Amino acid sequence: MRTIDEQGHAFEEWLTPAQIASDVRQVAACINKDYADKTPLFIVVLNGAFIFASDLLRQIQCRSEVTFIRVSSYWGMASTGEVKFIVPLQEEVRGRDVIIVEDIVDTGLTIHHLKAYMRANEAASVRVATMLFKPDKLEYSDAQPDYIGHEVTNEFVIGYGLDYDGFMRNLDAIYKVKK
Ligand code: 5GP
Repeated sequence: MRTIDEQGHAFEEWLTPAQIASDVRQVAACINKDYADKTPLFIVVLNGAFIFASDLLRQIQCRSEVTFIRVSSYWGMASTGEVKFIVPLQEEVRGRDVIIVEDIVDTGLTIHHLKAYMRANEAASVRVATMLFKPDKLEYSDAQPDYIGHEVTNEFVIGYGLDYDGFMRNLDAIYKVKK
């Protein structure tokens, strides 16, 4: 098992490139089945989802479009949050079957806001494809992903697009903090 060190923390390989490839194939197969007669708009959430998206989209067989957003979430003064588009969405989502592509869904805050935006802009449907999902951390029930590569417990993971302080996104496997 491979291990790496980043900023004094040891990480060990958890999902190998072969396991990731198998997870991505399974997600792509489900999307291909569900969208066979549709033309979805994939919205990839930067930065983390770029590697998952590039592997996933090359296995999508239906006619589709892909675009990218970069968001940061803010809590307002009240209990409602707002999502700020750092790289805004250029495409019109009205009437489109949107598939949001994420690296990991943790509390679900990001997806909660993105879904609200899609609804407000009258997307025909919105689903979420994520490489990883932490079910025990989910705080927003509407953020439950529709397509999941792999579930993960409450540990911090890096690699395959996921960063540690901006670094390690380029790792070809997914690593967990070594116990
Ligand atoms: P959420 O909005 O669902 O709480 O968080 C989603 C974002 O949190 C992800 O897109 C990712 O940037 C970050 N995140 C959550 N858990 C992890 C993790 O285990 N590792 C890394 N690198 N980022 C995480």
